[in-house]
Amino acid sequence: MRPECEEAPGGRRVGVEQPRGRPSCIPCAPGAPLTASAPMIRRMFDVIEKEVVPKTEKLVAEGNKMFGAAIMRDDPGLTTVVADSNHEMLCPLYHGEIWTIKQWSELPEDQRPAASECVFLCTHEPCCLCISGITWAGFKKCFYFFSYEDSKVQGIPHDLNIMHQLWQVSSYAKCNAFVTTCGLKDEIDKCEEADKAELTATAARITSKYEELSQKYHSEKAANKQNTLAFG
Ligand SMILES: [Zn+2]
Repeated sequence: MRPECEEAPGGRRVGVEQPRGRPSCIPCAPGAPLTASAPMIRRMFDVIEKEVVPKTEKLVAEGNKMFGAAIMRDDPGLTTVVADSNHEMLCPLYHGEIWTIKQWSELPEDQRPAASECVFLCTHEPCCLCISGITWAGFKKCFYFFSYEDSKVQGIPHDLNIMHQLWQVSSYAKCNAFVTTCGLKDEIDKCEEADKAELTATAARITSKYEELSQKYHSEKAANKQNTLAFG
């Protein structure tokens, strides 16, 4: 599978200054593409539904966005280490992923696996802050459920807008030397028919739950005087 980085014709990145005698692009395909088998997708959907969503429901009621995350051991059962959700009402930098990294970092040493031995799961494709945080923390594998485009449809287009405005790009390199990301919905299509039917039904259930959470967030945001976020 070809990484989904965006290149100008001739394999060159747009807008990158060209050092003398060297191509202008930054190579962005050294990592192996990340994939998920049916049991992995099933387990990650289970973590979203049973561990992330219950916390998100409570936090959305307090004015936080509905973005959640989990860190799991990269073992056959994808054992949960931490599952949590957005805490922007405490600090605008506490996106679900950043907050979850904070929870992981505060675990006692004997309960905290190394980032390189974990899998990072995001309910929504990580924004530029979060993919950088995931990278700086040392996580190598990152799965997500909703894409940037899905978030935009849910009334939260800030991921795309910030990247356009700051760097004039529509995405980070999804397969790079530090971290590789993978959209779970795309992986369902690669499964056997029986798994595909079951996982598609679960994906629809998760989608409808997040539509409900999104509506709740947006409808209560206007009345929430404590929400002073720049990107509400
Ligand atoms: Zn974020």
